[in-house]
Amino acid sequence: CGIVGYVGPRQALDVVIEGLRRLEYRGYDSAGVALVAATEGRDDGGAIAEAKRAGKLANLEKALADAPLPPSTTGIGHTRWATHGAPTDVNAHPHLGNERRVALVHNGIIENFAELRARLEADDHVLLSETDTEVVAHLVELQVVSGVDLTTAMQRVCGVLEGAFTLVAVDALDPDRVVAARRNSPLVVGLGEGENFLGSDVAAFIEHTREALELGQDQVVTITRDDVAVTDFAGRPVEPRRFHVDWDL
Ligand code: GLU
Repeated sequence: CGIVGYVGPRQALDVVIEGLRRLEYRGYDSAGVALVAATEGRDDGGAIAEAKRAGKLANLEKALADAPLPPSTTGIGHTRWATHGAPTDVNAHPHLGNERRVALVHNGIIENFAELRARLEADDHVLLSETDTEVVAHLVELQVVSGVDLTTAMQRVCGVLEGAFTLVAVDALDPDRVVAARRNSPLVVGLGEGENFLGSDVAAFIEHTREALELGQDQVVTITRDDVAVTDFAGRPVEPRRFHVDWDL
């Protein structure tokens, strides 16, 4: 229902939780976050750290207080309005691939998930949730494991999805990049100085920046600290619409 993404110099968890709180007005039944965390011996990522809970943001915050996540400056967050699978901890987003390399959140409905799920299960993938979303995390992870970057992975996977989606994903081995895509569901980018934001609406980042981009239908965006690049699902660069948010919340 609500989506936030961040890459920059700050603690991503703080920015993401604050963004999710700003999106609470939309209603939701579960909440979760994923960070790209450093692992021992490397300071450039390496692992996904995540937490998710059914219920209010307060439940997630309690879980985070009980079992804190490592520091990270790249993160994604989600508030869920369940369409496929009950509002449980397991069905909450983010969803990960079996190698725990890709974490992904989703607003909307993947209409052809049953067929995609059957194919993944025939290939020995273990799916943990009842959501339509989890298949997408597995498919994107399969692509990055095969050697393409997260942006290309997202473009390719979007080409096989049917339905409505705003998707946001991170790759543990590519810690400075967050990639998002949309079809029939909204996605905006908040443009900062040395930091960038993603949101299902501008409320997700309005206290940090009022300069924004609106993604068009069937587009993919890659944000890093200093760059924003938008393409269509075929990978062709496109020019997004830039706007200034001049209203108050
Ligand atoms: N269809 C997905 C689910 O049920 C996403 C729902 C949403 O938009 O929050 O998990």
